[in-house]
Amino acid sequence: MREIILAKYGEIALKGLNKHTFEDMLVKNVKRRLKKFGQFEYFRAQSTLYIQPEDENIDMDLVMEAMEKIFGIAKLCRAVEVEKDFGKIAEKGIEYVSEALEDADTFKVEAKRADKRFPMKSPEICSRLGEIILERFPHLTVDVKNPNVTVTVEIREKGAYIHAVKVDGAGGMPVGSSGRAMLLLSGGIDSPVAGYMMAKRGVHLCAVHFESPPYTSERARMKVEKLASIMARYCGQIKFFCVPFTEIQEKIRENCSEEYFTIIMRRLMMRVAQRLCGENDISALVTGESIAQVASQTMAAMVCTDAVCKMPVFRPVIGMDKKEIIEISRKIGTFETSIEPYEDCCTVFTPKHPKTKPILENVEAEEEKYDFSELVDKAVHETRIYNIDAC
Ligand code: ATP
Ligand code: MG
Repeated sequence: MREIILAKYGEIALKGLNKHTFEDMLVKNVKRRLKKFGQFEYFRAQSTLYIQPEDENIDMDLVMEAMEKIFGIAKLCRAVEVEKDFGKIAEKGIEYVSEALEDADTFKVEAKRADKRFPMKSPEICSRLGEIILERFPHLTVDVKNPNVTVTVEIREKGAYIHAVKVDGAGGMPVGSSGRAMLLLSGGIDSPVAGYMMAKRGVHLCAVHFESPPYTSERARMKVEKLASIMARYCGQIKFFCVPFTEIQEKIRENCSEEYFTIIMRRLMMRVAQRLCGENDISALVTGESIAQVASQTMAAMVCTDAVCKMPVFRPVIGMDKKEIIEISRKIGTFETSIEPYEDCCTVFTPKHPKTKPILENVEAEEEKYDFSELVDKAVHETRIYNIDAC
């Protein structure tokens, strides 16, 4: 029994003249993601990508699991391929969808006859196949408006495909079709979700993580790498920038007034992150900030942070409650890792009374007490860069 996967495009299908650019990107992403499972043949027709394994031993359950995480796909069907002969379609096709039919009360048959040389027309295929199904599964009745199961027969150039089960794809746009952004990735719950949301809209993500050894441990960094590898199931391989941040944090503590620690630290994170963007063709920053969640996430604090940024800072979870963010983090599989109790550089030297409504001139005056430019250069220079693949 030869199976094939039908991946139906989401928003790409609505694109105009540039549709093929998005399609090409999607196909490239799918190929890259499925390479580890074996060889596949790919072809496209009518806003659908057909993916056929060339080797019978490929584990199609795992392939489907991977496919469900690829952005740009609205629906996925796993179908059986049979010869373009009605007898075979009825015999093998019905056998393939029998489980779905057994569990249903109502059904209908849909036929798509792309290969016009096939001798039967679509309505005839539907009615004859419907009759055979009713004979084999007497508990079923036909419901053309709202059936439990729709058995679809597609007669294409290369063969006939029969399927009955559609699952939701990841939606969104193909990763890479909306430019490149740098995600500030901590070990928390919010930033992986923020990254996921940007990737869903087609943004290719890189990630920067600030660590402050010995205040933060190697385990803490490994946790963040684990988060990146879970995210990579959706986003594809992530270029990871690990910035040594200890000296900068120590100089802030030595030179600036305590209530400004966090805001100055965040401005320095942005300065370093931007420099890394400039060197890596990245045009925006992404954070997991949500307004009013903590002292550093007030509107006034964000105004002060953004004042050092020369590129847009996207905050896709800005208007979400923690509960909503957690829901997504559970769905994408990062939650359990995010809640592991390791320290973050943000929790090192936290002020007792941080300024919740900092005024930019005061922040700048505080920051000018020490010239951080050399340390920023040094942090950029000493950043370790490596790629993280999906786990
Ligand atoms: P998260 O759950 O994402 O850690 P948070 O609610 O803990 O967020 P903060 O610690 O104030 O919030 O951090 C706000 C944002 O700053 C994070 O969402 C992340 O984008 C960025 N950030 C914080 N710490 C780091 C870090 N060590 N490295 C990189 N980015 C960081
Ligand atoms: Mg955090």
